[in-house]
Amino acid sequence: MNFISTRGNAPVATLSQAIAAGLAPDGGLYVPEQMPPARALQPGASLAQTAATLLQPFFAGDVLAGELPAICSEAFDFPAPLRPLATPGDHVLELFHGPTAAFKDFGARFLAASLSRLRGGNGRPLTVVVATSGDTGAAVAAAFHRQPGLQVVVLYPDGRVSPRQAHQLGCLGGNIRALRVAGSFDDCQAMVKQALGDADLQARRPLSSANSISLGRLLPQMGYYADAALQHQARHGKPLNLVIPTGNLGNAMAAVLARQLGVPLGRIVLATNANRVLPDYFAGGDYVPMPSVATLANAMDVGAPSNFERLRGFYRGDDAALRAAFIARAVDDDAIRATIRHRFENQGEVFCPHTATALHVLAQLRASGEAAADQDWAVAATAHPAKFEAVVEPLIGREVPVPAALAELLQRPAHAEPCAPQYDALRTCLLG
Ligand SMILES: *Cc1c(COP(=O)(O)O)cnc(C)c1O
Repeated sequence: MNFISTRGNAPVATLSQAIAAGLAPDGGLYVPEQMPPARALQPGASLAQTAATLLQPFFAGDVLAGELPAICSEAFDFPAPLRPLATPGDHVLELFHGPTAAFKDFGARFLAASLSRLRGGNGRPLTVVVATSGDTGAAVAAAFHRQPGLQVVVLYPDGRVSPRQAHQLGCLGGNIRALRVAGSFDDCQAMVKQALGDADLQARRPLSSANSISLGRLLPQMGYYADAALQHQARHGKPLNLVIPTGNLGNAMAAVLARQLGVPLGRIVLATNANRVLPDYFAGGDYVPMPSVATLANAMDVGAPSNFERLRGFYRGDDAALRAAFIARAVDDDAIRATIRHRFENQGEVFCPHTATALHVLAQLRASGEAAADQDWAVAATAHPAKFEAVVEPLIGREVPVPAALAELLQRPAHAEPCAPQYDALRTCLLG
């Protein structure tokens, strides 16, 4: 299969080329030239097998095609259980059982497994530059740590990620460099975009991206939605409707693609924090990227959701059709706090602030009847609450036990280099 740029001004690419490049040379995002037809999916298959079945047409004809089953086994080597909640028909899809306790582990591990195979035999190391509002960088750093031929430079907004997130970024060392940028996540993202578009820099130091714009992260995320929805459909005879905590729209975009490939998913609802660019657009306003504002759900502090261009392209730029297909709701910090407290006091359940935005939206949909009583819904639980202990613990009045893999990382010493929020500073650092 071939991949084209959303901006229509770049040569077609194979999947490997698109994965290695990250961003298309015209500044657009790679998308499949056409969507493959629906796949024949088996409810009894493993998560890794289901992911491979879904991904197979995208890899057809690519140099990595024969490696796809092995790549999936490496990336999908921890579970994504769908767990019922107290309210009948409500579920959480737990995506946080990987090494850094967030859903981004799946995509990051798939990307690392792909890029490490693409680098095989080629002398020059590939440098992955990634901007993070917290979880991306941690997942990418952990997935790429000690991978031969690959280096990682992670940029994060200094003081805007949790202490535990910062620690996860700086504690690996070796082929992983952490830069703490004196600016916002959007500054970091803009710096990375500029580096990826800098042909002179790329000639001296080949770069790749690992943000959610990378198809190597986006496409595999279809796997866990497919696994959950297939098993649910087999057991209950109903499709699963989703509420997805949304920042750059990568996770939700994967659900949209999975549904298109025949995965039994119903509605896909977007929950954002107080960064309301998407809710405002879906309510009928123009799409107006804005500077991000800091919230309790900081991995979603995004003012210019990078995958919006893909989503709009998927609807051929037809804004009316796109708006009709989605509900998007913003959830402010007070509602996030209230949801975390309420779920703990009433159900003894502890959730991270991101998952709480989606739980709040699902409760609204149930109350209004937009989520009918006979429908089954799942909230994507995107991170483990122990990653956001500074938010969660004061609200519930007790400590959140740390998963073992995360505890191991937190015991190592950490170091990050300071960096100014301008492209020149990053360029100097990459060439140094
Ligand atoms: C990245 C992230 C999100 C947002 O995902 P997108 O793909 O950027 O929409 C939500 N929750 C957590 C915990 C995250 O790390």
